[in-house]
Amino acid sequence: MKIAVLRETLDGERRVAATPESVKKFIALGADVAVEAGAGGFAGIADGDFTAAGATVAERGATLKGADLVLGVQGPDPASLAGAAKGAKLAAILAPYANRERVAGYASAGFEALAMEFMPRITRAQSMDVLSSQSNLSGYKAVLDAAGEYGRALPMMMTAAGTISAARVFIMGVGVAGLQAIATARRLGAIVSATDVRAATKEQIESLGAKAIFVENVKGIEGEGTGGYASEMSDEYKAAQAELVSGHIAKQDIVITTALIPGRPAPRLITDAQVATMRAGSVIVDLAVEQGGNVEGAVAGQVVERHGVKIVGHRNVPSRLASDASALYARNLYNFISAYWDKDAKAFVLPADDEVTKGVTLTQGGQVIHPALQG
Ligand code: NAD
Repeated sequence: MKIAVLRETLDGERRVAATPESVKKFIALGADVAVEAGAGGFAGIADGDFTAAGATVAERGATLKGADLVLGVQGPDPASLAGAAKGAKLAAILAPYANRERVAGYASAGFEALAMEFMPRITRAQSMDVLSSQSNLSGYKAVLDAAGEYGRALPMMMTAAGTISAARVFIMGVGVAGLQAIATARRLGAIVSATDVRAATKEQIESLGAKAIFVENVKGIEGEGTGGYASEMSDEYKAAQAELVSGHIAKQDIVITTALIPGRPAPRLITDAQVATMRAGSVIVDLAVEQGGNVEGAVAGQVVERHGVKIVGHRNVPSRLASDASALYARNLYNFISAYWDKDAKAFVLPADDEVTKGVTLTQGGQVIHPALQG
């Protein structure tokens, strides 16, 4: 079985889907690994490191030739995958809702496309969960990005020249990224508060030493949809949340928003009028900017200023920590592939009747088969 690792072509994508460590492990399973030249360049991995790990390094055509499994970070253009074996599998973060045509392209090119971000959030798949591994790094980096834009220090400092007060940091959306943002801001000495629509997060916020800011006394505030994800909230809840947030936000120095609802645009959490209530020099980081944005006025790929407040909208935040993000992503892929490795056939075989297979498989037999992409 031949595994091909692509060099990413999307502008700003610095990650790579394999590392020398994962290459060695694939070879130990009995696979041949080919890596496209330059694939690890932005993640601090030279072609020679891949060669030393046992991979062959070549241009894309030779890398793909006869490959049974193609690994990428972003979904590649189907037209760029010529030469792979018939019925080859492709595993990457495929963003299928935004790229339906491209997914159809994988089907017509005969690929079995596997969307890594559709990995079910079940215990046995935790080590394969790319959303978690990448969101965790995003939450960390969001705090550093905010600190970088903020013209003050985060911790309280008592110096001979006087005292600097601690920054107030508010995290909105306490999933994987939000939890790491709370922990990071706490480590930097900020006074941290956080909110979410899922009541279960209250205890998590408090266990990290932050203050939980929650809408109380509104019917149906559980906010928990399927699979532990958030659901769309009622208008009554949204009004109560806006009022609560308005009062709180005006006193914050840094706000980090991470709120997402699967398959829908990100919920709007902060209006321009609320931004205007913040002190000049404050910073907002919108981690949901590429999904429509939690913050009015946030622009994907830019740091903009509104009412003296900086709104940070970096794209692809995990890629800003390309080495660690690649290392964790490569491990997620290895954990997935090795869990379904047929030792006798020395091949990656996904059983049809399996929750993980059904969760990630978008295309098969020339068709788009995933239920979420029908209609
Ligand atoms: P996510 O990225 O989908 O969303 C981020 C957070 O935003 C969530 O906590 C969500 O509740 C919150 N949110 C949505 N709308 C909001 C609003 N209007 N106001 C405030 N907050 C809002 O979340 P995620 O990090 O992918 O985590 C989703 C769930 O999956 C969590 O329950 C998490 O514990 C669970 N999870 C399970 C596993 C596993 O078992 N393998 C792994 C990771 C995460």
